[in-house]
Amino acid sequence: MKMEYNEILVRYGEIFLKSEPVMQLFERRLIENIKSRIIKTGIDFSIYQKRGRIFIKTKKIAKVCKILKKVFGIVSFSPCLHLETSEKREILEFFKQNYNKIVGKDEKFAVEVKRVGKHNYSSQELAREIGSVIKRKVDLANPDKRIFVEVRENDTYIYFKKIKGLGGLPVGVSGKVISLISGGIDSPIASLLAMKRGCNVIFVHFHSFPLVSKKSIEKTKKLLQVLREYQDKIKLYLIPFANIQLTIKAMIPTKYRIIFYRRFMLRICEEIARKEGAKALITGESLAQVSSQTLDNIAVIEEVTQIPILRPLIGMDKLEIIKIAKKIGTYEISVQPQEDCCTLFTPKHPTAQARIEIVKEFERRIKIKKLMKDAIDKAEIQEI
Ligand code: ATP
Ligand code: MG
Repeated sequence: MKMEYNEILVRYGEIFLKSEPVMQLFERRLIENIKSRIIKTGIDFSIYQKRGRIFIKTKKIAKVCKILKKVFGIVSFSPCLHLETSEKREILEFFKQNYNKIVGKDEKFAVEVKRVGKHNYSSQELAREIGSVIKRKVDLANPDKRIFVEVRENDTYIYFKKIKGLGGLPVGVSGKVISLISGGIDSPIASLLAMKRGCNVIFVHFHSFPLVSKKSIEKTKKLLQVLREYQDKIKLYLIPFANIQLTIKAMIPTKYRIIFYRRFMLRICEEIARKEGAKALITGESLAQVSSQTLDNIAVIEEVTQIPILRPLIGMDKLEIIKIAKKIGTYEISVQPQEDCCTLFTPKHPTAQARIEIVKEFERRIKIKKLMKDAIDKAEIQEI
């Protein structure tokens, strides 16, 4: 027979570096995020917080553990058994009655005790006495089973393993950002990393329908279904880009077009950021991965906006990005073929060293405000 857990003990980090009000915000947000994720599944549970730990009471321990693995801000968690006492006698009695469910006949064990609060015994003393009522072999250096006992004020929590969480900060504590998502491999991962640092991410996808099929839109939505497991509510702006592209095609030499596409994307996203109260844009750019992402081009492209642009992947190699994409399950979706709006009317080798004077000169030919307004007016907004 095995031990039945009745709670999950959740540990969170980083918080300890911060001031009291920031810490409270962090905790409150983390609890809200955990709650809303579990509520969605219909599982019965209750949640409480005590002295730097969060506890979840539920009968569906395994299912809730699966959810917790995708909540940013959690450092680790442990399915545990909560005894509503800190009396040594009662703790020892529990182990007397149950040790055979905890440690197998031929297994060796070790006990580690941690205490928070005042008790009439020391941690060492309790560990030694628990050890003596468990009629199995002790092996402190190399046990088959580690028994962790945390006595916290008037409660005791018993667990056997620590499951690693994602770390980071709870989604929402850093405020809103706008992420440019393309359907490719990089931008979903950039968005995930923004979530990891506490951003609430709103998505913008530019599509070239009806010049190309709706494939990129479908892919983007599938990608967002994966990311929805990390952020509760996801809002997506679908921006029609075909008109802007046709105008650029008519007015701008081929090797500069990509720069113009990007400048338009940023302008429009800055506008959406203002509307949404978002504080930064996120892109999936990684330095010099492709010719539009050289430092020269990045400078010329971002010259057009005031808002900060964050590039979480800037120092990552493609293989590192792919590794994360495979792990979270976006890779398979991203690699499906699509007609990319950026390759439409653009050459294989666009300029790698755009010059701002030239770009500005060309841009005078285009009715920027009108094109932007049309695109934003025709945006379709969806909840994923
Ligand atoms: P990704 O894998 O994210 O498509 P990429 O390596 O293909 O990136 P680019 O095509 O140069 O790189 O795009 C750079 C960034 O510009 C993307 O990561 C994304 O943030 C943004 N972007 C590109 N195309 C679009 C689009 N159609 N809609 C929204 N954002 C886009
Ligand atoms: Mg791309």
